[in-house]
Amino acid sequence: MSLFQYPKGKHSRKQAPRRFKRYQTYKRYLQSEFARVCVYCRQPDSSAPNLNFGVDHYRPKGIPRFAHLVCDYANLYYCCGSCNSRKNNDWPVDEKAGPYVVNPCNYEMASHLRFDHSTGRVEPKTPHGRHTEELLQINDDATVQYRLNTLHLVRVMSAEIELLQHQLREIAALLRKGNIPQIQYELDVQSINQEMAKARGIVQAHSGELPLPSLKSQRLGVVLVKR
Ligand SMILES: [Zn+2]
Repeated sequence: MSLFQYPKGKHSRKQAPRRFKRYQTYKRYLQSEFARVCVYCRQPDSSAPNLNFGVDHYRPKGIPRFAHLVCDYANLYYCCGSCNSRKNNDWPVDEKAGPYVVNPCNYEMASHLRFDHSTGRVEPKTPHGRHTEELLQINDDATVQYRLNTLHLVRVMSAEIELLQHQLREIAALLRKGNIPQIQYELDVQSINQEMAKARGIVQAHSGELPLPSLKSQRLGVVLVKR
């Protein structure tokens, strides 16, 4: 589960949209470019539809000498509303020394920030990481608690999915042995799959990603139906 984890290695942009007049138009490209996650605090947008995810100008649009970069795709990042407003016009006075807010294209994020899943906190590892964590208040109490709750919920629902997969295997075995009729098997599979879809939906909404289901057992189930 990569929930809240910072990426290792640098991100190279996969899309090259044409030049638009309004920077807001880039939002849908950025959303897919950065996998629907705030590049700074790693919150998935699916878990916080009201958090006003939008376009961050890495070199701030409020600084006149960066005005020409307002619609430059390479200067734009996908970002939650909190990080965006806290970052605002931050830019180092001493460009050589920094400190800089780290972004996933120019920095290996994981070298600067580490998410600790036991505490829900993001630990800075470098001065750039410290600056990012402090300026964007990545460890404000409510957010840390939200991360812990989310991790717990995702763990519980993932266990539920595993249990349902186990049940699928069990009833497939019962059918194979002739202990249940085909019609009961099909009804059970249908109801288990409905439960599974619900559980997966919850995981996806909170984590922004699907857990890795055991596709093999599902295929086994399907194959058994056809026999
Ligand atoms: Zn954020």
